[in-house]
Amino acid sequence: MTQAFDIVVIGAGMVGAALATGLGQDGFRVAVIDRSPAPAFAPDRAPDIRVSALSAGSERYLQQLGAWQPILDMRATPYQRLAVWDETRHPLSSLMPRTLTEVEFDAASLKTTHLGHIVENSVTQQALWQTADDEPKVTVIAGHGVSALTQGSQSATVTLDDGRSLDAQLVIGADGAQSGIRDMAGIGVSRNQYDQQAMVISVRYQGPAEDITWQGFYPSGPRAFLPLHSAGASHPGESWASLVWYDAPEQLARLKALPKEALMLEIQQAFPAELPLLTHIEARASFPIARQHAKHYFSRRVVLAGDSAHTINPLAGQGVNLGFQDAQCLQAMLKEARRANDDLADPKWLGQYEQQRRPANRRMMMTMDLFYHLFSNRIPPVHLLRNLGLGAARALPFARNQVARYAMGIDDRLPAVLTQLTDRIPGLRQF
Ligand SMILES: Cc1cc2nc3c(=O)[nH]c(=O)nc-3n(C[C@H](O)[C@H](O)[C@H](O)COP(=O)(O)OP(=O)(O)OC[C@H]3O[C@@H](n4cnc5c(N)ncnc54)[C@H](O)[C@@H]3O)c2cc1C
Repeated sequence: MTQAFDIVVIGAGMVGAALATGLGQDGFRVAVIDRSPAPAFAPDRAPDIRVSALSAGSERYLQQLGAWQPILDMRATPYQRLAVWDETRHPLSSLMPRTLTEVEFDAASLKTTHLGHIVENSVTQQALWQTADDEPKVTVIAGHGVSALTQGSQSATVTLDDGRSLDAQLVIGADGAQSGIRDMAGIGVSRNQYDQQAMVISVRYQGPAEDITWQGFYPSGPRAFLPLHSAGASHPGESWASLVWYDAPEQLARLKALPKEALMLEIQQAFPAELPLLTHIEARASFPIARQHAKHYFSRRVVLAGDSAHTINPLAGQGVNLGFQDAQCLQAMLKEARRANDDLADPKWLGQYEQQRRPANRRMMMTMDLFYHLFSNRIPPVHLLRNLGLGAARALPFARNQVARYAMGIDDRLPAVLTQLTDRIPGLRQF
């Protein structure tokens, strides 16, 4: 049996579920498919190991979709302060004042109540599945993957692994970095694997929930602290947090294999002094990190959004924030296509989506690399800036501040001088 829709969204991760909700609210008939079962939330359960820093822009978008209040009703941790500093020792360290090695933002001085929220991915996803499910025009299909795709002049047909067929004018691939629909559509990727991986460690610490998220940069990679909620009555006086340790794959493999007590000691020795007293390690997982960009954002009746189109270094936590920007842009284009009575797969509209989103996503990829190099490199940063052409050492605090503001989602735009600078980073032009 074939069911007919306007749009089929493959993947109901955070980006796909948001797109399905928004498109359903705009009156499109949407099916959204995920091979995983529906996410479930239990208030007394330890936090999901995957968490994301959601920017103010993402918060506004989730509010429009009606998913923000359900997220707050489950759990989300606002942070008022954000600090980034350099722990790299180099010949100029002792000569450099603290202002050159640390950037700190606080909500009060930016005249806002908070800079962002740390939210468990499963919480965001669950809230979005709920809002999607509440939309009469949206059909959520959980627990099934896609086994085939055929594309015709009027529509595309997606076949599920249980034999069902779904017909639609447009198929949106929101099935993550290893996107199968991207392969089925014949869209290639440019990929650059970083030397580092990221290990996320879910911990409890002594003290109330902190209002700061911070990241210290070491020669082997950054080490970050993301505060989560209070651990409640079961562990009075304690709170949850997520630590991220970037390092060489072999070092992380060694750390992953350690018993909890030994890992705790390693963390205490390796992390900056700002780390609160840890009481418990709940879980750990490591993730390869790669800069990846689809060669095209669409082909015939398939268009990509979120991690299926691009992945970036997670060091400033911008991946899903970019995915939500894709979702908003694509939704706006599809509304225009419908208003003009055009085919939803008309390259005129999908091309405009790519024209808007590709440079923005590419700029954020470059900024991540610039950000990383400005904060940690064995080459003294002043030399690095000089080599890159920014010139005087006195530009360093300004550059760091501006790059950090953009990379962390505090500013929407990177100043022109830094945009030019990112264009000089070797190896990025083909992205
Ligand atoms: C260590 C680490 C830390 C990060 N921290 C942050 C952060 O702080 N802030 C931030 O913004 N981003 C962060 N990110 C990035 C962020 O997690 C991703 O950008 C985000 O999850 C992408 O969402 P997505 O919906 O595009 O893809 P995914 O989350 O990968 O979702 C894809 C969905 O598609 C489904 N799927 C896959 N294949 C199929 C198929 N064949 N059929 C049906 N369904 C399918 C999957 O089950 C999944 O639900 C981090 C990433 C890492 C690795």
